[in-house]
Amino acid sequence: MSQTLLLSHMYPNTPESLALANDEPWDDDMYDRAQAHLEAFYVEVFLELANYGEIEDQIWHLDLVVVDNLCDHMIGNVYVKYYHEEDAERALMKLTGRFYSGKLIQAEYTTVSDFREARCRAFHETRCNRGAYCNFMHIKHIPRAIKRRVVREMYDDHPEYLGQTEKDRDRDRGERGEAPPARQTSEERRAMIASWNAEKETWLE
Ligand SMILES: [Zn+2]
Repeated sequence: MSQTLLLSHMYPNTPESLALANDEPWDDDMYDRAQAHLEAFYVEVFLELANYGEIEDQIWHLDLVVVDNLCDHMIGNVYVKYYHEEDAERALMKLTGRFYSGKLIQAEYTTVSDFREARCRAFHETRCNRGAYCNFMHIKHIPRAIKRRVVREMYDDHPEYLGQTEKDRDRDRGERGEAPPARQTSEERRAMIASWNAEKETWLE
């Protein structure tokens, strides 16, 4: 078991996104089309996956990732990390046999548990010389406003995720022999979302 699922090749890359990943010539229009397609996918898939459980690691905004790599085993890969292993298990059961965009969803557990560790440092700091055929994760960029929006919607749809006490969480972690994570309390997360809501006006401009 694991908290993280790999959904192999789930993101249907568009000609624009392939050109961008391949470092072919592109212009702003292509970039905007690729980004709009990615963001629509992200919102839809995040909210669907959040129905199976609370998606983890919102502080780092690395909770659902879509990779930009084009090698055969990585193209279109999507990773989702849940806070609870049971939720990852439920998601795996529910996703098995389902289709997305006309393709069978291939969901499985993955040992990748820390996207920050698994990503390509060169790509995320400057530029990766291996390009789209690098074997480390090149994570597609999702703007913060989109990430905040889906997290807010997740808690609006599932207020029960905020209801769990920190004690429950520590106990869950303790049983697996892991150190309790440094994580915001439910109150802090509520406050965080309230402050985002206050800022909402600004993003819409
Ligand atoms: Zn790389």
